[in-house]
Amino acid sequence: QRAEMHAEVVVLGAGPGGYTAAFRVADLGKQVVLVERYSTLGGVCLNVGCIPSKALLHIAKVITEAEEIGQQGIVLGKPKIAIDKLRAWKDSVVGKLTKGLATLAKQRKVAVIQGVGHFISSHMIEVRTEQGVKTVSFDHCIIAAGSGAVRIPGFPHDDARMMDSTDALQLIDIPKRMLVIGGGIIGLEMATVYNALGSQISIVEQLDQLMPGADRDVVKPLHKHLLKRYEAIHLNTKVSKIDTEKKGLKVYFEGHDAPEPQTYDRILVAVGRRPNGKVIGAENAGIQVDERGFIPVDQQMRTNIPHIYAIGDIAGEPMLAHKATYEGKLAAEVIAGHKVAFDARTIPSVAYTDPEIAWMGLTETEANKRSIDYEKAVFPWAASGRALAMGRDEGFTKLLFDKHSRKLLGASIVGVQAGDLIAETVLALEMGADMQDIGLTIHPHPTLSETVFFSAEIAEGTITDLLL
Ligand code: FAD
Repeated sequence: QRAEMHAEVVVLGAGPGGYTAAFRVADLGKQVVLVERYSTLGGVCLNVGCIPSKALLHIAKVITEAEEIGQQGIVLGKPKIAIDKLRAWKDSVVGKLTKGLATLAKQRKVAVIQGVGHFISSHMIEVRTEQGVKTVSFDHCIIAAGSGAVRIPGFPHDDARMMDSTDALQLIDIPKRMLVIGGGIIGLEMATVYNALGSQISIVEQLDQLMPGADRDVVKPLHKHLLKRYEAIHLNTKVSKIDTEKKGLKVYFEGHDAPEPQTYDRILVAVGRRPNGKVIGAENAGIQVDERGFIPVDQQMRTNIPHIYAIGDIAGEPMLAHKATYEGKLAAEVIAGHKVAFDARTIPSVAYTDPEIAWMGLTETEANKRSIDYEKAVFPWAASGRALAMGRDEGFTKLLFDKHSRKLLGASIVGVQAGDLIAETVLALEMGADMQDIGLTIHPHPTLSETVFFSAEIAEGTITDLLL
């Protein structure tokens, strides 16, 4: 079959991985076609993920700070929430970014085709557009088709009161009583938003801690803070059945901490994301896809078909935007003939909850599992002048060092702005810094960034004053 169009590079999917790859490879002189099923670029992250959730989390932070400042003698009134205005503001933030991306694509002469792409061979893709089917042949292809929310079989997902994260971000209304199924990052971030807006929140998590993946001690201050604000947190518990009733969704629980059946106005299901590997016709191109829908790749992001690459959520865990962009840039450079490979030493994770939790490199749980000899230094924020001055001293900063080389192996931080603070430790790890490198770096005072420095000083035994 002859294609109607030929491209040196076809990129399938315009999320953070796809648009980064398309822009980079265009900058490196290739002619690029970017295929995206939606009318805006930016994928999950910009449209229904990172950005709208952070816009709403910013509002949540302002509201909760205004409530909690009562402890410092400032009493503010109950906020009036104009939900239509809030939704419009959130949409405008997204709109600014997606418009910006469209301009960047135009400037680089990246041809965007709106439609659903599907491989028909290892050198051709078919795109179903509103104007009909277009075929595009290619020399190279980068698959960046991302992931979608997992649904639980047997649950009444078609009921409008059942939400996934995309529905929750639409902010249709503020339910009185809401259940969040899944105590991971996405579930807890959306719970933070709805709780600040006035919903009574319950969380159900089948594992024995919130935020699985982070160390248990790091999750503790968050759990404690949430217990003060939420109706209930059920760990080791599963939802076994949901009945749709006129007055609400009746939920049956089972497990260690299972309550009696409860009725909620809305339920958010946030139990993970499934990569889109099985729905793009990969078999027609001979591309290997694993049973979960991930596409295995090598260190240059190549699939088993050497001129086809995969990046971002579809190429494996962790499913995070900064991993997708890193991989997108890398695949573009490999196609342009650069001698590069994936050699990042860590991919940081952040939960933008209140307090935030951030970790990178080795966690203690992982170190113990793998019997790695480490030295730990923990700096409690109760001894940080800045944290005390902010009225938020519940956090701590934990650094893990190699016992012999004294190099940084990992970091976990819980507290306000932990997500920003972790970046310094990522750089330290990438550069092979040891505790002295961090301890000899002058940090500005008084900042939360000093907690990283103090932890290194604790490890070195050179700390002079524990209340700083
Ligand atoms: P995606 O962003 O999923 O983009 C894939 C694109 O491909 C989509 O636009 C899709 O429409 C398109 N597509 C798929 N199949 C086809 C097809 N057959 N034809 C045409 N187009 C197709 N990550 C962070 O790092 N930080 C955060 O704060 C964060 N917050 C999040 C909050 C929420 C609520 C959610 C759901 C996710 C969040 N994530 C966050 C994860 C982040 O959004 C993803 O890791 C990231 O978007 C992955 O990028 P990607 O390029 O791999 O794919």
